[in-house]
Amino acid sequence: MGYWDLSLSLVSTIRHDGDGGVADDLDTVEGLADWLAAAPDLGVAPATEDLRLRVTELRAAVRSLFARAVRPLEPSRADAHNLIDVEAALARLNAAASGLGPPTLQWPPDGAPRLSYQLTATTAEGRLLATLAEAATRFLAGPDVTRLRACPAPRCVRYFLQDDPRQAWCKPSCGNRARVARHYQRHRNM
Ligand SMILES: [Zn+2]
Repeated sequence: MGYWDLSLSLVSTIRHDGDGGVADDLDTVEGLADWLAAAPDLGVAPATEDLRLRVTELRAAVRSLFARAVRPLEPSRADAHNLIDVEAALARLNAAASGLGPPTLQWPPDGAPRLSYQLTATTAEGRLLATLAEAATRFLAGPDVTRLRACPAPRCVRYFLQDDPRQAWCKPSCGNRARVARHYQRHRNM
């Protein structure tokens, strides 16, 4: 899984519940186990309440940094009133990344040179958190961060990467829903 996909997978565990509210896929240990099972790159850390708390704390940090990255546009409304301070978010992210060793340069024969980090954390939980932190760090410090957007459609709480500057919604169905909502708004105001 790429850095963006892994970061998106983490932040998207907070999602629209299909009924106008917000659901959290990681609000139980079972939910964490399901999410880990769906992301084979994340290793074999057993799902526990302690790990759930650590992952959701890291997620809060990443979502808060995403909220900063989309400024001056609005962040995802799922946690817009529940964001943590940028310095605290950075400290939390960097603490999770401490399970990575120093960078080494890799240059595959058929590819471009790239930095690689060994996972030096001694526990499976530490390696999981370091992997998530590396993905978010690489994404936030990389060129794609300028394309990060929070979908402004009614009820949608997703972050997405803009494919072109005119893309306003995370997916076409969100655009349709927004147009319908505007239509009703106009007619109500007539
Ligand atoms: Zn959307």
